[in-house]
Amino acid sequence: MSKLLKDYLAKSLQDKKDRGLYNEIQILDGANGPMIQIEGQELVNLSSNNYLGLATDDRLIKASQTAADQYGVGAGAVRTINGTQRIHQELEEAIAKFKGTEAAIAFQSGFNCNMGAISAVMDKNDAILSDELNHASIIDGCRLSGAKIIRIKHSDMADLRAKAKEASESGLYNKIMYITDGVFSMDGDVAKLPEIVEIAKEFDLITYVDDAHGSGVMGQGAGTVKHFGLAKEIDFQIGTLSKAIGVVGGYVAGSKDLIDWLKVAARPFLFSTSLTPSDAAAAKEAITIMTQSTELNEKLWQNAAYLKEKLAALGFNTGHSETPITPVIVGDENLTQKFTKRLYEEGVYAKSIVFPTVPLGTGRLRNMPTAAHTQAMLDQAVDAYEKVGRELGII
Ligand code: PMP
Repeated sequence: MSKLLKDYLAKSLQDKKDRGLYNEIQILDGANGPMIQIEGQELVNLSSNNYLGLATDDRLIKASQTAADQYGVGAGAVRTINGTQRIHQELEEAIAKFKGTEAAIAFQSGFNCNMGAISAVMDKNDAILSDELNHASIIDGCRLSGAKIIRIKHSDMADLRAKAKEASESGLYNKIMYITDGVFSMDGDVAKLPEIVEIAKEFDLITYVDDAHGSGVMGQGAGTVKHFGLAKEIDFQIGTLSKAIGVVGGYVAGSKDLIDWLKVAARPFLFSTSLTPSDAAAAKEAITIMTQSTELNEKLWQNAAYLKEKLAALGFNTGHSETPITPVIVGDENLTQKFTKRLYEEGVYAKSIVFPTVPLGTGRLRNMPTAAHTQAMLDQAVDAYEKVGRELGII
């Protein structure tokens, strides 16, 4: 190994560890359900994005197996070269219908989707107004596009309006886009889409909403855009198939022309092999389930309300979440890691989230109740939180 690389890695790893920023990745001995198995111990799982419990749903498993029998386990090559298997096309049609748009395109992941979609439309002659708390994949997609990036204070509509006006009047840019998460993943607050649409109309902004944490959750499952009744107003509806939908993959839903363009210009679509047929079939099944009944969605919100109320009543700082995302904000990174470790010993898996995922000094445990948790599981978690919270002087 290069000596320079060796020294660089040793120093960088040690530095992360010293600052409490080194994340040990846990090995799970089974499915990522409401309870998980780790080295023979069973823990309440409050760390997955499996909002509706669909990652372990029998109907999805069956759909995935049937698709493997019919189409094989791999897509074979990129879709533009090898052709598109029918199951991918069916998934895209289902997404478009679910989102209320003319068309949709699937990517291999939500991360990939943001990298591909932003850079397919924006370039160095354009400007992107981007909420300062947007997800890392949005930030990287913006950088990749080469457009001028203008940070907007978090959900601050006055700041958005002022900067949209300035960018528009400057005459420097061909196109201006505003990008926001639909639901902010670390705090659980919701983008102010009705006001955003008004400002976008005034300055002809392209609107781009990444609803990774809103799909399956907001709007009785159809997402944040549908929640506000704005499917016709938002240009890009982005989502992931890996959270509430329970599988893996990402998508853009929008106009037919937009999707046609992405199919010839989005590089992860052009140059990387697609989702497996089983992924596509399982995701399509999830959309069918979500369309047929809102039962899982209702259970999710009930469980979230229960957990949030109990943790807040104990005196934890649960922030200002408007969605099932339930942070317990601790602050100090080392204390946050210690909290996670002690909860683990008490049978609860609530992973610490620290810088760079959240700003320095705002370390937290992000609890993700799901539709699959029972009240007994949530009570077990709350009891452990109380015990460890007192022990560490947090409450
Ligand atoms: N966008 C947002 C807002 C997200 O929270 C995530 C998930 N971490 C992604 C994109 C990436 O999605 P995926 O895990 O499907 O790559």
